[in-house]
Amino acid sequence: MPKLRQNIITGDYVVIAPERAKRPEDFIAERPKAKKTKIDCPFCPGGKGLKEVIKDAGTSRIAVIPNRFPAFVLSEQIIEEGGRFYSSGKAFGGHEVIIIKDHHEDIFDLSAGVATDLWQVFQERYCFYRQMPEIEYIMGIYNYQVEAGASVEHPHAQLFASSVMPSYIQKELKGSLEYFLHKGQCVFCQILEEEKGDGRRMVTENNDFLAFNFFASRVPFEIWIVPKDHRSDFFHLDSATIQSLAEIFRKVMERLDQKLKNPPFNFYLHTLPAKKDHSGQHYHWHLEILPRLSRLGAYELGSGIYIDVVSPEMCARFLR
Ligand SMILES: [Zn+2]
Ligand SMILES: [Zn+2]
Ligand SMILES: [Zn+2]
Repeated sequence: MPKLRQNIITGDYVVIAPERAKRPEDFIAERPKAKKTKIDCPFCPGGKGLKEVIKDAGTSRIAVIPNRFPAFVLSEQIIEEGGRFYSSGKAFGGHEVIIIKDHHEDIFDLSAGVATDLWQVFQERYCFYRQMPEIEYIMGIYNYQVEAGASVEHPHAQLFASSVMPSYIQKELKGSLEYFLHKGQCVFCQILEEEKGDGRRMVTENNDFLAFNFFASRVPFEIWIVPKDHRSDFFHLDSATIQSLAEIFRKVMERLDQKLKNPPFNFYLHTLPAKKDHSGQHYHWHLEILPRLSRLGAYELGSGIYIDVVSPEMCARFLR
């Protein structure tokens, strides 16, 4: 029987319909880690992308550059468009590419140093945009492989800073606030309790973080990494916690690669909005990792209800 599950934070529904597919093993495929020559790579030394390095990001292993085809730009570059019916405004903000310099670094097997640097650079760039009064939200993301929207093979993350609040974040903020007002507790902290107690969706953990398959997963193997202590804001992590984040991230990546063989994936970081008027009592930052092993269909697009063909419990058992 297909089961309806609800995201306890946003209220969104998913259908877990395992009998439509398959076992977790069915998602293992031949996906070789292609490594092209460095000559035509825009992000390798001498490549055209690297000509506009914003800063060396305080580490010799990572470079930050403006995206050549940005979604958000600083105001002076914006051409205004009129219109009395449709609303249209400036796509103000920033869009950066965070490049791991070594083309041959494998995202599933990053060294502890590179993984720590990556999260540190995310944090630095968050801090940079956070000072701008126009910026509402900053999101660090990663697209891996074509199926997940990556157009360049060279390992790279991205950062989006926008003057609008993404609607998904708005839903999380609203839902977690409602939960807090009713129950007096942070819903994310409660999720941690539940996952630790239940155990069926647990993937791995360390001192500071829990990694588990999300109860209302939208796609097979959707994994959330959540800090165990109540922390609303990714900006305030100290360097020891950043190291710990790098450690659990490496564990999860290693597990995904071992079990699913080089799967395409997206991840994004959800944290408290940049502006100071957001309270952190009810919100708890986290990382959502979505392997892209199944494609979105019309129903998902038309309804916002995702159909997941493998139960999160089965995925977690397979990954453990
Ligand atoms: Zn390269
Ligand atoms: Zn919390
Ligand atoms: Zn989230």
